[in-house]
Amino acid sequence: MVTEIERDYHMKTIGLIGGMSWESTVPYYQIINEEINRRCGGLHSAKILMYSVDFAEIEANMTKGDWATNAAILTDIAVRLEKAGADFILICTNTLHKVAPEVQSHISVPIIHIADAVSEALLARGITKAGLLGTKYTMQQDFYKERMIARGIEVITPDEHDMERVNDIIFGELCLGQFKDESRKEYAAIIEKLAAKGAQGIVFGCTEIGLLLKPEDSCLQVFDTTVIHAKKAAALALETM
Ligand code: GLU
Repeated sequence: MVTEIERDYHMKTIGLIGGMSWESTVPYYQIINEEINRRCGGLHSAKILMYSVDFAEIEANMTKGDWATNAAILTDIAVRLEKAGADFILICTNTLHKVAPEVQSHISVPIIHIADAVSEALLARGITKAGLLGTKYTMQQDFYKERMIARGIEVITPDEHDMERVNDIIFGELCLGQFKDESRKEYAAIIEKLAAKGAQGIVFGCTEIGLLLKPEDSCLQVFDTTVIHAKKAAALALETM
């Protein structure tokens, strides 16, 4: 029987595309290392290759609706990470998964899709009706929700006004490292409305939301994509090939 520590000798290298925003890439790095250490003990830590972008360029392209340029930027990075030895890749943001299929078509190593990871976590807890908070792209468009729906999960999003507020707080505060009490309360109230609409759990479908709200701030069980995605990466890094 091969122990986890012996397997670590063949630990896979995790490729991270980070910086979207860098505030939320910090917990990715920390959680992955903590999880590898928890599993392997001693001085063990994760093998990570990270490319961190200039988020201003990416955000400007999103605002213009220029997803093709963002796909090209992320593809270039993913190719570099693969060449450098990454065994699999994480895009450390929910929103940019809009271009994940395009990026995946240019590399041989897998992209671990954040919506698949959170769907697995929801289903493992028996949740088939989930509230979704994220950027307006993630909440309004299909690229993310369709992966959850395909797994039998009903997705409940806030109304138009609340979507705008959730989105504005992400880009105007959280991505700038600002965490305000009033915004925390506003998010908590929006989660309550989603619970009233039947949500059994809440997906923090934006990697910065967990920096603002802790699970105890939410009336619903929290599924934080940053935590789930990062832990999934650590588990995969230790799986035998
Ligand atoms: N990090 C956020 C997300 O998970 C929003 C910023 C971005 O657009 O990348 O969607």
